[in-house]
Amino acid sequence: AKAEGRNDYHMFRQEMHDRVERRLKIETALRQAVTRDEFVVFYQPKVDIKSGRIYGLEALIRWMRPGNEIVSPAEFIPLAEETGLIIDIGRYVIETACINRKTINDETGQDLIISINVSGRQLKEPELLKDIKDIVATSGCIPEKMELEITESMLMEDVEATVATLDEIAALGFALSIDDFGTGYSSLAYLKKFPINTLKIDRSFIMDITDDKEDARIVQTIIDMSKNLGLEVVAEGVETIEQSQMLKKAGCTKIQGYLYAKPMPLDELIPFLKNWK
Ligand code: C2E
Ligand code: CA
Ligand code: CA
Ligand code: CA
Repeated sequence: AKAEGRNDYHMFRQEMHDRVERRLKIETALRQAVTRDEFVVFYQPKVDIKSGRIYGLEALIRWMRPGNEIVSPAEFIPLAEETGLIIDIGRYVIETACINRKTINDETGQDLIISINVSGRQLKEPELLKDIKDIVATSGCIPEKMELEITESMLMEDVEATVATLDEIAALGFALSIDDFGTGYSSLAYLKKFPINTLKIDRSFIMDITDDKEDARIVQTIIDMSKNLGLEVVAEGVETIEQSQMLKKAGCTKIQGYLYAKPMPLDELIPFLKNWK
C-alpha cells in the first residue's frame, strides 16, 4: 500500500508537471501568435426576420495556428485574459472590424452594424477606451455603426467603474449590448444604470425553447422586459425554423444562428451578403 501511495504521488507530480508544461507551451504560442499575425476575425450575420434583411454582424475571433489548425476563442480567451494578451488581441479585433466594415460596405453596398465582444479584463483596463479612441481617430470608422457586446455577469463585477467606462464608450457613439442575457443575476435597477441598447438572449434558453415550457417562459419574459425598457432584443444560437417561428410569435425578430449562417471569414462573407435574398 505504501509503494502504491508513492506511485500515486509520483503520477500526480508527473501530471502536474505535464499540465504546467502544456500551458506554458500554449502561452508561448499565443504570445507569438500576436506578433505573427495568426488571428483572423470571422463574422456571423444577424437577421431581422420581419424584413428578411441582414442588419448586422458579430465579429468572432479565430486563432489560425501553423498547419491550418483553427483554435476556438473558448480555448484561448481565458488564457489571453490571464496573461494580459487580451489587450493586444482585443485592439486587433476592434481595428480589423472597423476596417472590414468599410470594405463590406464598399463591396456590397450594405451598411451593417458590427458587434465586437469585449471580455472582463479588457473592460477593466484603461487601454480599452484609449484604443477605441485611437482607432476611431485613425481608421475612419463610424462609431454609430459599431457595437460592443459585454456579458451580463461582467456588468455586475464593479458597477461604478463599469458604468463610467461604458458611459464614455457610449458617448463616442458605440452601441452596447448585453451578451448571454439571462445567465447572470442582474436586477432591473442595475440594468437601468448602464447605457445599453440591446439584450442578447443566451443560447441556452433558445436551445430547448420548443420543448421546454420553462425556457419558453423565460424567453418571453426577457422579450417583454426589453420592450418595456425600450431595448432591442436579439436571440442567439437559433438553429431551427421552429425556434425562429416561436421567437417571432413571442415578439423577437432579431435572430442570429446557424439557421441563417455560421461565422465566416471576410472572403466568404462578401459573396454571401451579395447573394442574400
Ligand atoms: P459568444 O459571444 O456568446 O458568441 C456566440 C458563440 O456561439 C460563437 O462561438 C458562435 O460561433 C456560436 N454560435 C453562433 N450561432 C450558433 C448556433 O446556432 N449554434 C451553436 N451551437 N453555436 C452558435 P465562438 O465563435 O466559438 O465564440 C465563443 C466565445 O468566445 C464567444 O461567445 C465570446 O464570448 C468569445 N469571443 C469570441 N470572439 C471574441 C473576441 O474577439 N474577443 C473576446 N473578448 N471574446 C471573444
Ligand atoms: Ca457575443
Ligand atoms: Ca452570447
Ligand atoms: Ca456565450
